[in-house]
Amino acid sequence: MMTACSHIAGIRTVTPSARGCEECLKIGSPWVHLRLCRSCGHVGCCDDSPNRHATAHFHETGHPVIRSAQPGEDWFWCYVDEVAFLAS
Ligand SMILES: [Zn+2]
Ligand SMILES: [Zn+2]
Ligand SMILES: [Zn+2]
Repeated sequence: MMTACSHIAGIRTVTPSARGCEECLKIGSPWVHLRLCRSCGHVGCCDDSPNRHATAHFHETGHPVIRSAQPGEDWFWCYVDEVAFLAS
């Protein structure tokens, strides 16, 4: 899939920082799906989750690209360009 996103070139392989959403684990909150920041390895919850920590992480850090951390899901999302693309 071709995209207009220039940030994909800057991402790297990261090690997930936690087995679940870091912030939700601290406060004991549930989440729906997990998202992995491809700049630093932060694990946050998706926008269907009550606390939306993945999006909050983008606003805090400016890290543009996440990928789904769900098994079998292989897509990325750029918050800056608001485009989704598949891993190649
Ligand atoms: Zn982008
Ligand atoms: Zn969370
Ligand atoms: Zn990050």
